[in-house]
Amino acid sequence: MQNQNQTTRPNGHPAPTGQPPAPAFSEAPASLTLKISYRGYNDVLFTLRSNSGVDLLSKLDAVLDRLEKMGAEPAPARDATPAGAGQANGAPAEPPICRYHGPMKPSKKHGGWYCPKKMGDGSYCQEKVDG
Ligand SMILES: [Zn+2]
Repeated sequence: MQNQNQTTRPNGHPAPTGQPPAPAFSEAPASLTLKISYRGYNDVLFTLRSNSGVDLLSKLDAVLDRLEKMGAEPAPARDATPAGAGQANGAPAEPPICRYHGPMKPSKKHGGWYCPKKMGDGSYCQEKVDG
């Protein structure tokens, strides 16, 4: 019974192929910054650099595996709106009410509000509120 099941050795260094070592680069063509939460620190920045995006991605996987084992987590996303900004622009939080159909919808074209419903005769409701 032969045991041909050779496992690849993780400590085996790659055979030299005659290629020169990777050149030192002052500015990496590919870089990626992870923001993680670790041991209560929410703003731990971890920057990976490589001279190839593909290489960077494989590094990223390895790093993420390691980080997850360490118990690190992705840093909580911040809200796009800064805290305390509130509704400084005075935009109404609730839609205006069409007198026939109820709440209106925000109009992306005009910035106001419109009623998407139809009237009894099949024509679109003409109720609008300017933004
Ligand atoms: Zn209406």
